[in-house]
Amino acid sequence: MSEPKTYMNLIGGEWVASQSGQTFENRNPADTREVIGIFQRSGAEDVDAAVQAAKRAYESWRLTPAPKRGEILFRAAELLRQRKEQYARDMTREMGKVLQEARGDVQEAIDMLYFMAGEGRRLYGQTTPSEMPNKFQMSVRVPKGVCGLITPWNFPMAIPSWKILPAIILGNTVVIKPAEDAPLSTYNLVQCLLDAGLPPGVVNIVTGYGEEAGEPLVRHPEVKVISFTGSTAVGQHITKVAAETMKHVSLEMGGKNGIIVMDDADLELAVQGILWGAFGTTGQRCTASSRIIAHRAIANELAERLAVRAREIKVGNGLDETVTMGPSINADQYNIVCNYVAIGKQEGARVLLGGERLTEGEYAHGYFFQPTIFVDVTPEMRIAQEEIFGPVTAIIAVDSFDEAIAVANGVKYGLSSSIYTRDVNKAFRAMRDLDTGIVYVNAPTIGAEIHLPFGGTKATGNGHREGGVQALEVFSEWKSIYVDYSGYLQRAQIDNAE
Ligand code: NAD
Repeated sequence: MSEPKTYMNLIGGEWVASQSGQTFENRNPADTREVIGIFQRSGAEDVDAAVQAAKRAYESWRLTPAPKRGEILFRAAELLRQRKEQYARDMTREMGKVLQEARGDVQEAIDMLYFMAGEGRRLYGQTTPSEMPNKFQMSVRVPKGVCGLITPWNFPMAIPSWKILPAIILGNTVVIKPAEDAPLSTYNLVQCLLDAGLPPGVVNIVTGYGEEAGEPLVRHPEVKVISFTGSTAVGQHITKVAAETMKHVSLEMGGKNGIIVMDDADLELAVQGILWGAFGTTGQRCTASSRIIAHRAIANELAERLAVRAREIKVGNGLDETVTMGPSINADQYNIVCNYVAIGKQEGARVLLGGERLTEGEYAHGYFFQPTIFVDVTPEMRIAQEEIFGPVTAIIAVDSFDEAIAVANGVKYGLSSSIYTRDVNKAFRAMRDLDTGIVYVNAPTIGAEIHLPFGGTKATGNGHREGGVQALEVFSEWKSIYVDYSGYLQRAQIDNAE
């Protein structure tokens, strides 16, 4: 294996070391002997330098016409398309998802680049008639300034793109603190923007650990917005810290997503969906299908068919094209998965499939776990309530549609949900009654597209959405403008009174 490359922080267009000189390693979770890169272990002083650079860049970037900003994004999309394969391989090596999914992650960033490039020619506001004669009024979006972006490792290019691109198309500048487990994919995305002509300081990267580099960004008085994706515990903490400087905070957090399978469902279709939803990305998606809420009439058959198919999942290093499931991201996450399997057994659930670490031979140096299916699960069990973030799904049997909806909604999270049914009436009732930000019909809980709003209710979010034009709300203020061309004083609500 060749010498790992050292990556610097990106501050004001310069590649610079952390002021402390400290670094950390990014290792391959499929083979921890491989170091992907050495990254800067940054602190508050590095964050401050990045925020100052972003503040300087803001003054000219906010005045750059939005269609011109969009052209840079468009060129970056073309570059990212050309580099897709290389960057997908980098991603698989740094965080373990199989190559096909890593390509999908890069594709999501390409899609977002094109979508937000187009927004450069829209960014629509409103015009509306005045209640007065000879008066014009409109609302326009204005950027907020320096935005702090904090991202997780599971979609290491897609999620940074969901935050960076709406922020900068609006004229904001950003400082991003990517996840310590997968920073390289943020570099790859940002490199395309730089090569496409993005001016220095518009996007700044500061790497490091959450408390050391993330929190100073949240505390910094010059940062106007924090956009965070990660765990609910950290999101709650960030909200409290950000309140001290009255920042706007957008949070995307955990999930405990359920697939309902009714007794009239196409079971083969449901099995395919569950396999993809539960074990795709090794269950490490915020939208992972970690609960299967099955009508009792078909629950056993569904479980058996699922187990047969899940046995065919090939676990291993995602660079091998025949592998269909990679490792857990790191030792902590691996231990969490193992602990939850133990908890599930203690609670009285039965392991139908899997439940063990894989440690021999090709698995010896990675965080590999068997695809795991629990049956005899009841809704209140911890494995049915808490986010596991691993290749573990729990089958819960229910007796009716109403019970299925109640169980699906009976968790603290509200990100994604799904129903398999051939009954259009049940499908529409589920669309209405499932209390999640995303609902799928006859598809699993994963698979969002970038041009619809993405986010969740309850403990998953704080009311904001990423994706779609809704993402623009996070990074802009509305300014309402009234132009009176009557030549005399007109008093709203007074001069036009009955
Ligand atoms: P995490 O909360 O541990 O870390 C997320 C980011 O926050 C990292 O960059 C980390 O360094 C940083 N951070 C940690 N402590 C911080 C602090 N005190 N101040 C500022 N920043 C801090 O989450 P993770 O383990 O990287 O990701 C997994 C979690 O993310 C899961 O709960 C998953 O559901 C969630 N997630 C949610 C979505 C969504 O859109 N809803 C998408 C992907 C992942």
